[in-house]
Amino acid sequence: MIKILVFLLITTLFSSCQGYTAVSSVSFDDVRNKNCTIIDLTYALNKNNAFWPASAYAPFKYKAIATLKKDGVFSGSYSTPEHLGTHIDAPNHFEDNQPSVDKLTLETLIGPATVIDISDKVENNEDYQLTIEDISDWEKANGRIPDGSIILLNTGWWRRWNDYVKYKNTDTVNRLHFPGYSSMAAGFLIKERDINGIGIDTLSADYGISTDFPVHHIINGAGKYILENVANLDRLPPTGATLIIAPIKIEGGSGGQARIWAIVP
Ligand SMILES: [Zn+2]
Repeated sequence: MIKILVFLLITTLFSSCQGYTAVSSVSFDDVRNKNCTIIDLTYALNKNNAFWPASAYAPFKYKAIATLKKDGVFSGSYSTPEHLGTHIDAPNHFEDNQPSVDKLTLETLIGPATVIDISDKVENNEDYQLTIEDISDWEKANGRIPDGSIILLNTGWWRRWNDYVKYKNTDTVNRLHFPGYSSMAAGFLIKERDINGIGIDTLSADYGISTDFPVHHIINGAGKYILENVANLDRLPPTGATLIIAPIKIEGGSGGQARIWAIVP
C-alpha cells in the first residue's frame, strides 16, 4: 500500500510540473554554436502586406531618398499604418487608461510560447473561434499553460498570407471571414491563467465577422497586448520555445510593427 501511494505521488508531481519544466535554458554559446533554432515569426514589410481594411488605413510605402550611385549613400523613407504586417496591439488600442506601445513593460515581451493549433477545425469552418475546450485539450496533451506565456494561435491562415484578397476573405456584403479567439477563451486566459499576451496568424484576434471586437476589449482591458499576422507558427512546438518581441517604440502609439522571434532549444 505504501509503495502504491509513493508511486502515485511521484507521477502526480511529475505531471503537474510538466508545464513549468518545458522551458529549458539556452546559453549564448548555444546560440553561437547553433545548438538551438531561432525562428523568425515576422513577415518582411512591403507594399503587398496585409493591413486592416478600413478607410484611412493604407499600404506600406517605401522609397529611396538617397542612392549609392547618386549620393554615395543608400537610404530610404517609409510610411505605414501601425496595424500593418506583423505587429502588436498595445493595450490602449481598444481601452482608455491603458499603456501605449512605448510603455509596454519589457519583461512582458519575453516569455514562453504556448502554441495552440486549430488549423484542422478551421479547414471545415473559416469562421472558427478558439474554445475553452480547445485550451483544455491542449493542456491535457502538454500540461498547464506556463505562467507568463504568450499564447499563439496557429489557425493555418498563414497559408493565405501572400494573397491579400484571400487573407481578408471579404464576402459579397463586405464582411470579413477568418478564424479567431472566442470571447470565452480570451476571458478564460485572462481570469484562469497568467499570460503576458496573445497572438494569431490572421488580421485580428477577433474572428473576421466580428464588429464589436470583444477579444480586443478583454485582452487590452486587462492591460495585455495582441500580436497579429504572426508568421511561421507551424514551425514552433506546442511548448518549449521562448518568445522575444521587439515592437517599434512610437510615443503614445496604439501599436506598431514588431520583430518577433522564437528560440527553440
Ligand atoms: Zn492590430
